Amino acid sequence: MTAIELETLFQRLNGSEHSGFTAIHSPIHHSPGGVLYLSKPGVALLARPSFQLGALTGFLDGFDPALHFTEYLDDPTKLPDGAQLCKVAGQVCYMSFGPKRTFNEHAERYFNNLKSSGHGSVFEHATFSFLLYGVSRSVTHELVRHRAGFGFSQVSQRYVSGRVLRFVERPEYAQDPLLHDQFLQRIERAASEYAVLTNRLLEMQQAGIDILSAEVRTDLRKKVQQCARSVLPNETEAPIVTTGNARAWRHFIEMRASAHAEIEIRELAVRIFLCLRLVDPVLFGDYHLEQLADGTFTVKTEFEKV
Ligand SMILES: Cc1cc2nc3c(=O)[nH]c(=O)nc-3n(C[C@H](O)[C@H](O)[C@H](O)COP(=O)(O)OP(=O)(O)OC[C@H]3O[C@@H](n4cnc5c(N)ncnc54)[C@H](O)[C@@H]3O)c2cc1C
Repeated sequence: MTAIELETLFQRLNGSEHSGFTAIHSPIHHSPGGVLYLSKPGVALLARPSFQLGALTGFLDGFDPALHFTEYLDDPTKLPDGAQLCKVAGQVCYMSFGPKRTFNEHAERYFNNLKSSGHGSVFEHATFSFLLYGVSRSVTHELVRHRAGFGFSQVSQRYVSGRVLRFVERPEYAQDPLLHDQFLQRIERAASEYAVLTNRLLEMQQAGIDILSAEVRTDLRKKVQQCARSVLPNETEAPIVTTGNARAWRHFIEMRASAHAEIEIRELAVRIFLCLRLVDPVLFGDYHLEQLADGTFTVKTEFEKV
């Protein structure tokens, strides 16, 4: 295993950054029959903490001026908003606003102390939201097993129609011409079976079959699609917006960017890690990348499960 520079991998994966928001987008491919598919996860940071240090003024200036608490606002070292928010939250615990406090310049030392002493709850103040696409239904099934500190909003296969159907090719298939061809045939077959099934169900509905009836117009469509989706494979794309706090994302990265994790979710976790690490090198600065024998990457830290 060799250590690899984050920036290099971010660039190699086609990463981009606009106004402090990172993304690693994924190209769209077409099968010969025109069915859309992706071969890599797409990751776009949608939201990150916004912190205003000046908001503390009315609180800090209410104490004895001899404590010099208001000087806290003049720390010359700027931190990413997420890290600054968590640091303020942690420093409220001990009212560490005086001259003996840990200054932002030593934020790394401050957070490493929290990590090694298990004060992980401080990391829960900073939340980051991602749009994740180019991810299969099997990967999102693993993703949503993470309960603590996460929120999910995923495409509804009952509500959306076959017009937005896309599929995800596993990395193993992309490397073998035979498996790749079989994948293309399979997704065309799946899309076609879905369309045939939908059409037949619509005919049954129009004929007044009870089990497909509904009072509201959108429910009619749902009754058809909730049945037709049964033929969709695990490799159907399942876009999902995922919001997690920094503690939750750290645990996810450790579990899912691990060498023991399934390869598709590991590729997703490594991309999420890169996007987080570049926008907040303080909260996620203890991680490093290593390349595995199969060419994929894993992420490691000495501070696991804070
Ligand atoms: C390599 C790998 C293989 C896996 N294989 C399987 C498998 O074969 N079958 C399977 O079903 N799952 C499997 N999983 C999923 C795994 O069991 C977890 O469900 C998933 O990784 C989420 O982990 P978590 O519960 O630690 O995370 P979260 O749900 O995010 O929880 C984070 C932490 O909060 C605490 N916590 C959360 N909820 C509770 C609670 N109710 N009570 C007490 N503490 C809580 C725990 O400390 C937990 O670690 C696998 C995961 C990995 C990474």
